[in-house]
Amino acid sequence: MAKRDYYDILGIPKGSSADEIKKAYRKMAIKYHPDKNPDDKEAEENFKEAAEAYEVLSNLDKRARYDQFGHAANASSPNGGGYGAGGMDMNDIFSQFGDIFGGGSPFEGFFGGGGQQRGGRRVAKGSNLRIKVRLTLEEIANGAEKKIKVNKQVVCTTCDGTGAKDRSLFQTCKTCGGQGAVRRVTNTILGQMQTTSTCPTCNGEGTQITSKCTVCHGDGVVRGEETISINIPAGVSEGMQLSMGGKGNAAPRGGVPGDLIILIEEIPHETLKRDGNNVVYDFHISFIDAALGTSIEVPTIDGKAKIKIDPGTQGGRMLRLKGKGVPEVNSYHRGDQLIHINVWTPKALSREERELLEKLQNSPNFKPNPGKNEKSFFERMKEYFE
Ligand SMILES: [Zn+2]
Ligand SMILES: [Zn+2]
Repeated sequence: MAKRDYYDILGIPKGSSADEIKKAYRKMAIKYHPDKNPDDKEAEENFKEAAEAYEVLSNLDKRARYDQFGHAANASSPNGGGYGAGGMDMNDIFSQFGDIFGGGSPFEGFFGGGGQQRGGRRVAKGSNLRIKVRLTLEEIANGAEKKIKVNKQVVCTTCDGTGAKDRSLFQTCKTCGGQGAVRRVTNTILGQMQTTSTCPTCNGEGTQITSKCTVCHGDGVVRGEETISINIPAGVSEGMQLSMGGKGNAAPRGGVPGDLIILIEEIPHETLKRDGNNVVYDFHISFIDAALGTSIEVPTIDGKAKIKIDPGTQGGRMLRLKGKGVPEVNSYHRGDQLIHINVWTPKALSREERELLEKLQNSPNFKPNPGKNEKSFFERMKEYFE
């Protein structure tokens, strides 16, 4: 399923202010609220979609990355994952964004619980795991598949994650009768007040285990290792975060696993410097080669390339190898390699060298004579980087 643009989902233009984003989300959330649309799957999907859009656009950092990279900035691999609309749990939405409805909203009572689960039982959620992945410039340029061994909470295989010694050893919680929540009525001077809270006996799960699994002691999860294959799209950069839904820590007793958050780190290249999608390389030639012309070999991301230096090349010249840079994430566009030509002036001279040069010193062609074709440093920068 192709993901819709977050701005389109909220029906606002790209440059909207934080306040406009909040207002638009509030409108959508009220329109598609499950209380107003009971048993309407489509409304629920729209509700989740709006929440996801708001989660990203209300966060300055996430919004900046989304504006630059689109869905790839927050998604996991090119072939899916990430936190799609299905990845966000309804309870998460209510606990994260409940406050957006503020005072006087038609759902005030509903959101008043501040993160309370909606009636039913609580589903445990595994925590997110964060890992760093270090990539070479070549891996960034071509995309990479990384197999990474991760230490994390995994489902206990002895009890299949149930936490019980065997399946028959479950029973409905006696305290809450399987509801996961307990209601208490107290008499106050203002009249009867009813409060609902998570059942303390079963922690909101609605069931109790009479005999616990001996391996995981009833948790349903144990410490373990998993080798995870991560598809990193070409063009990522230092500090970017990718998220793989459901690859984080397993949740106790059959709950929803957390996400795996992958933080990208760049290993600096020995000779090539990345500048956005371009790759910059500094090359020094002798002033004799600059005057006579020569052919040089330069490293590129895909191996070596031969380049002709024209006779009469000035220092500061910038040569461009088109399409030899880094691709943009989720796009066919690729940056260039820029070769910055420096003309080397000898720092020490032997007696013979000095004599030879002195012979040329007053030769008319050696007098600097910059013409209109010699662009200033500023003009070159403007030409190559705009
Ligand atoms: Zn177990
Ligand atoms: Zn209970």
